[in-house]
Amino acid sequence: MKTIYLYNSASHKKEEFIPNEPGRVSMYTCGPTVYHFAHIGNLRSYIMEDALEKLLRYAGYDVKRVMNITDVGHLASDADTGEDKMVKGAQREHKTVMEIAKFYTDAFFDDCRKLNIKYPDVVQPATGMIGEYIKVISSLMDKGYAYFAGGNVYFDTSKLAKYYVFNDHDEEDLAVGVREGVEEDANKRNKNDFVLWFTKSKFEDQALKWDSPWGVGYPGWHIECSCISMKYLGEHLDIHCGGIDNAFPHHTNEIAQSEAYLGHPWCKYWMHVHHLNTSHGKMSKSSGEFLTVSLLEEKGYDPLVYRFFCLQSHYRKGLVFSWENLDNARAAYDKLIARVAALDPADGAVDSETAAAWKDKFVEAVGNDLNTSLGVTALYDVLKADLNGATKLAVLDSFDQVLGLDLLKKAAALREQQAAPAEGAEEIEALIAKRLEAKRAKDWAAADAIRDQLKAMGVEIKDTKEGTTWTRA
Ligand code: AMP
Ligand code: ZN
Repeated sequence: MKTIYLYNSASHKKEEFIPNEPGRVSMYTCGPTVYHFAHIGNLRSYIMEDALEKLLRYAGYDVKRVMNITDVGHLASDADTGEDKMVKGAQREHKTVMEIAKFYTDAFFDDCRKLNIKYPDVVQPATGMIGEYIKVISSLMDKGYAYFAGGNVYFDTSKLAKYYVFNDHDEEDLAVGVREGVEEDANKRNKNDFVLWFTKSKFEDQALKWDSPWGVGYPGWHIECSCISMKYLGEHLDIHCGGIDNAFPHHTNEIAQSEAYLGHPWCKYWMHVHHLNTSHGKMSKSSGEFLTVSLLEEKGYDPLVYRFFCLQSHYRKGLVFSWENLDNARAAYDKLIARVAALDPADGAVDSETAAAWKDKFVEAVGNDLNTSLGVTALYDVLKADLNGATKLAVLDSFDQVLGLDLLKKAAALREQQAAPAEGAEEIEALIAKRLEAKRAKDWAAADAIRDQLKAMGVEIKDTKEGTTWTRA
């Protein structure tokens, strides 16, 4: 096991990563709210979380990663107001909530596949865990941490010794939840209380409802992540990840209710990915101004160019998206692939000792708070190093287990592509020589037939004084 350092948003410090159980990592990720396509901002978070998971595996840890799918309970505002996002999505598309959920869940994992984001070990839709929410909410009621008011069940934040707030993020990020929450809920005893279970609330058109001890209703958004995490990863979680906008109130509330329920500290490390911004601010689904992976593909970008673009920056800094920036990333990625393609695998044998030393250096660099941009730099260092081709390729392939850029696969495809015209050229030259023979023999019909054959292959020929030249149509 190699040492990894990670910035922990809970302690506001970079810490040595020490999991609860040696060698094993339990990792929870807030999954998408499946009422629309994921935008590339959402996917920045998932790319960086994926890089962390891959780094941990590379460093020797056995990782179990769990992700929820939010298909109920996430309201338009994080402060329990507005419509359920899923209901809104279903209305927009004249479909049922479940149809919308299935469609956008599949679309999300299609995007993940294209971006080389590994499928989590467990994926749990929120609608599949109602019994768990009821169990935990009942226990919170019994312990006096929750109360029933106006038809809803609320978590009572005044009962906590400390209502934890991650207070190291931008005022602007924090303001999102706060600003949208100005609409006061008169049932709340304290400003920060939040809904665990909705029943007779104003959301009459809620499509999915379940029976509960507090009446027919549906769960709040925060309770789902706590329950799904505890169900699959137990009472002690190592890493919880999400975008920085989720730090407050979502993660803050997760900590409140999980620790109140368990009676002990719950999650050791909190990893928050900062936003992908456009010139107008944070890219968001609700603003309707968002870019998708499909759109990038339509514009001719390989999705991995976007992954490369993300990896070049640190996850704890905002990243500005512009087409110019993406074009620069594409040029660099293409150049990188070309350099890898130029390496000769038959040049020497893999020097395993040297390769292992490079690997150690790589973990040290990237393992310093997921410094993926140093990981990218390491690729160029290998290309420049005084090593044989076989060793370089082995080391690059090894680093790519963390970076997920398909370096060797893309390089092989490029080599094939470069070889293809040459192979074609041989055949074309042979046909042109045969045509010349036919012409010398005054077999005009045969010569014309060859010209037609070449034309069908997309090759135009021209007879000049110097001989026959050809171009591809
Ligand atoms: P959602 O589907 O809205 O629940 O969000 C899915 C994930 O994307 C969450 O972890 C969010 O924190 C994250 N996220 C949302 N907007 C952005 C953004 N502009 N940049 C990076 N991550 C984001
Ligand atoms: Zn969550």
